[in-house]
Amino acid sequence: MSSEVMHKVSEQRSRNMSAIKSKNTKPEIAVRKLLHSMGYRFRLHRKDLPGSPDIVLPKYKTVIFVHGCFWHRHENCKYASIPKTRKEFWESKFKANVKRDKEIQEKIKNIGWQSVVIWECQIKDEKFLNKLISNFL
Ligand SMILES: [Zn+2]
Repeated sequence: MSSEVMHKVSEQRSRNMSAIKSKNTKPEIAVRKLLHSMGYRFRLHRKDLPGSPDIVLPKYKTVIFVHGCFWHRHENCKYASIPKTRKEFWESKFKANVKRDKEIQEKIKNIGWQSVVIWECQIKDEKFLNKLISNFL
């Protein structure tokens, strides 16, 4: 790999790294639009709830997390690949992410709320999302 290519790769990586905590991502906005079209009222990024969930539906005591398949490790998903270089680094990073997600979901449950995870790869399937959301709300 030429040094120029290497540089590009690391640039891409750091952009991805910062993407993990970014708000108002495309998938998130897609879910919001759908909820809106279904007539649900919701709040965004409520800091007083565990994990400051992306989307909060107070009336239903439900939070929705929109998860990127790669960072949050969507099981059996083609987007949840493991980078070929620095494998150990990625694996421990992923493990920490998954652990954190689990802990947050546990905390949500403990305060009597329910949490729904919508994966990035499911966003395009509006029918599926419609059904998923209707099942929870
Ligand atoms: Zn996925």
